[in-house]
Amino acid sequence: MEGVLVTGSASAELAGECARCLERIDDEIEVRFQELFVYDDQDYSSGEDDEVSMLEGDLVDLETLLRDAVVLALPFQPLCEDDCPGLCPDCGARLKDDPDHSHEEPVDPRWAGLAALKQDEQDQD
Ligand SMILES: [Zn+2]
Ligand SMILES: [Zn+2]
Repeated sequence: MEGVLVTGSASAELAGECARCLERIDDEIEVRFQELFVYDDQDYSSGEDDEVSMLEGDLVDLETLLRDAVVLALPFQPLCEDDCPGLCPDCGARLKDDPDHSHEEPVDPRWAGLAALKQDEQDQD
């Protein structure tokens, strides 16, 4: 045999934010991995075997293998739930908490000056 075949599984806790509504996400994933670690007394330095994993004496360093397995299993865009409606584009409210959320028609910008005058009047009263 040219090495040791390592097979295993690992679970990891995930902490992140929903890509749509920024809600905190706590989750867990389990990954499986398998990799051949070759004996380090062989010469693999040439060419195409750069990617080969090696034993270090009698020891196996699992860090890279574990990290790659977990990172590949991570969702590209984590969501708090599959159909998360995200945030209101006008005010940033979380639409899942407030699905019937609506806004009055925005004030026509040409009248915005009047609204400011009205506000001044109220301040003087
Ligand atoms: Zn969400
Ligand atoms: Zn809103």
